[in-house]
Amino acid sequence: MILTYCYRIKPSVEQIALMSNTLELLRRHWNYALGQRLDAFNRTRCQIDRCSLVSEPIGEIPEKVNYYTQQSQLKQTKELFPDYKNIWAESQQVNLQRLNQAWEKWLIPDKAGKRGGRPRFKKTGELRSFVYPRVNDKRAGAHLRDGVLKLSKIGEMPVIMHRPIPVGFQLKTCTIVHKADGWYCCISMQDETVPTPLPLEQVKSVVGVDVGLKEFLTTCCGQTVPVVKPYRKAQNHLARQQRFLSRKLHGSNAYKKQQNKIALIHQRVVRIRENFHYNSAHNLVNRYDLIAVEDLNIRGLARTRLGKSILDVAWGSFISKLEAVAVKRGVHVVKVNPYGTSQECSSCGAKVPKTLSMRTHECSKCNAVIDRDENAARNILHRALNAVGLIVSAGGGLGIPRL
Ligand SMILES: [Zn+2]
Repeated sequence: MILTYCYRIKPSVEQIALMSNTLELLRRHWNYALGQRLDAFNRTRCQIDRCSLVSEPIGEIPEKVNYYTQQSQLKQTKELFPDYKNIWAESQQVNLQRLNQAWEKWLIPDKAGKRGGRPRFKKTGELRSFVYPRVNDKRAGAHLRDGVLKLSKIGEMPVIMHRPIPVGFQLKTCTIVHKADGWYCCISMQDETVPTPLPLEQVKSVVGVDVGLKEFLTTCCGQTVPVVKPYRKAQNHLARQQRFLSRKLHGSNAYKKQQNKIALIHQRVVRIRENFHYNSAHNLVNRYDLIAVEDLNIRGLARTRLGKSILDVAWGSFISKLEAVAVKRGVHVVKVNPYGTSQECSSCGAKVPKTLSMRTHECSKCNAVIDRDENAARNILHRALNAVGLIVSAGGGLGIPRL
């Protein structure tokens, strides 16, 4: 299991200058390396509809460019630009590795046939983090002991250990991140043990969860969690501050200050949302052994008129957090196809078509009347139990309410 904990660090003014300088140099190097790749790429191919059928002068063939050629040129870079000697060598390598990853993501499709966008050139301040790929190792660049982080080429600085590093985990990498409200070190750590999920025979309590815009989630027993929309709440404030920004001289000190103010509002929005997601996820995982959720197509949903609200409640990231929390505790999370879950009757299976505005489910066949979302949650649970092979008739024993 791999975990990442982020701690706030307290660097001195000189250290901040060093770290900012590191980021700036790495950014320039990223741009240079990307340019080198794009150049080689463009010179070794032509568009499919533009080449002559007989022959084509190809000119000088450029040298091959890949991660290994770029890494071996790092030595030369240091000779030409001595500033690069002030950066930990491994951090420079990771910078190139990150570029390589982005590059391959662009050119090589993944299993689903999808590719990423073309890696971009980074503007000033767009590179926000650099990595020490080894921690507490003999030759590592970063050492974290007793609340003090020692970084090669930068120095020692206190770390605010707001939570202890879990026992039995080996520290793997240390990423220094410049966020809107300061500097952080994100430590990724690994434990060889893999948490085993609870055997299905021992599953005692199950729950189906329907997510929505009216209530954030509704369980199959009718409990609801009200929706939190931090972005909507911050929108006016944000608009005001963005208006102030537009009146400042582009690139001036006041402009940068205002930019940071806006970044802080966005950071607050993200943090409120994340905190809410984790609280809701822990709440569910504490109470149930198996949780059934919808497998939503968020991208498709976000293109509709409700897009902003849908991205604001962020069900997708909630579900991935729920899965992460559940894995740690051995709880099952089952994703089911959401198609028709709100239209089906959960007690007799009949189709009861309804629009979004109809909030109660009234079945004409079996006369069941329950809340719309609760009905959907029950359907989701039934589908999940079928999928994992738990018998639905045992539902009564699993604490599923019957109509
Ligand atoms: Zn019915």
